[in-house]
Amino acid sequence: METKWIALDGWQTEMDGGLEKEQLEGQVSKLKEHPGIVQAAKILQKGGLVAFPTETVYGLGANGLDSEAAGRIYAAKGRPSDNPLILHIASMEELPGIVREIPETAKKLAKRFWPGPLTMIFPKADCVPDGTTGGLATVAVRMPKHPIALALIACAGLPIAAPSANRSGRPSTTTAWHVKEDMDGQIDCIIDGGEVGVGLESTIVDVTGEKPMMLRPGYITKEMLEEAVGEVFLDPVITATQPDPTIKPKAPGMKYRHYAPKAEMLLCEGREQEVAAYINTQTERSQKEGKRVGVLATEQTRAAYRADVVLSVGSREKEESIARHLFQVLREFDEAGVDVIYSECFEEGPLGMAIMNRLRKAAGYRVIQVEESDV
Ligand code: AMP
Ligand code: MG
Repeated sequence: METKWIALDGWQTEMDGGLEKEQLEGQVSKLKEHPGIVQAAKILQKGGLVAFPTETVYGLGANGLDSEAAGRIYAAKGRPSDNPLILHIASMEELPGIVREIPETAKKLAKRFWPGPLTMIFPKADCVPDGTTGGLATVAVRMPKHPIALALIACAGLPIAAPSANRSGRPSTTTAWHVKEDMDGQIDCIIDGGEVGVGLESTIVDVTGEKPMMLRPGYITKEMLEEAVGEVFLDPVITATQPDPTIKPKAPGMKYRHYAPKAEMLLCEGREQEVAAYINTQTERSQKEGKRVGVLATEQTRAAYRADVVLSVGSREKEESIARHLFQVLREFDEAGVDVIYSECFEEGPLGMAIMNRLRKAAGYRVIQVEESDV
């Protein structure tokens, strides 16, 4: 299959700074008429697959009400069939059609965070097929805050099932070129909307129980949610430092090894200078074994390392930059052909939980606590 490329770069996607509501609506109404969007929407209506930008990561979209179309997503990604998809909508009017009930908590959260990087779990309506929800009685729904995504969904007139547009297990895609790397020839169309804003997948909250429960951390933090609706519980798998086979994550996708670069990856936790000294010692050791070594560092620390490939993920003073470039940097290590990656850790700051959750999974939970005595 030939994958069509539609270039629509240049539409504002920055999360911080803010795209005002009117500005966003203006862009969406212009984009709905754009020949590229109209063409992509037709592909979706016919059951095809279209990769498109959202403010979190690139999504691989299909008609979420068509089991066969959703099945094509699983095939293209190589995704396990018990890992359900998120339905993307463009307006609140679409929600009652796909869910059985809208709890009060969900109304409050939608008012505060939609459109935006928040996914909520609802009891599903009958029209949502098992092929989309992996056989669950619930459905995940999100309204993305990206003009291209909103215009495409509105133009197709369908809820669009869209997981991240990467091969299953690989780092999520944050540019259209990464999508091409993973999906070329497997899908009908890629819309290039430039680099995404957030860079990590949406926060997922289950609103079907007594109290809201966070199933996956993201740009919308626990504190932000609690400000809107009071106490929010955390699914324990979010902060797990080791995978525990006895605990079943409530978001089925959280159990898979994810975001993983091809190289072996080790996270080094501790004080900055000790971590750098430890990584340099380990680098020498690995190089003596004939390995090519990568280090995932920051603007502040990159000069401290002597590895073959030292990549800065962003600035410690601006943790959004770390979130935005994390998956991209993991892919760059693959391209550079390193055998092992040593990475710093990022606990502090509101996005620390989301960043560390992705990094721990990318590293297969291999974390080294660096003490002074190790250096
Ligand atoms: P992705 O679209 O690749 O970011 O993955 C979607 C995530 O949402 C996965 O972790 C799924 O397990 C999770 N998810 C989707 N639907 C549900 C649902 N009904 N209940 C719980 N988690 C869900
Ligand atoms: Mg994914």
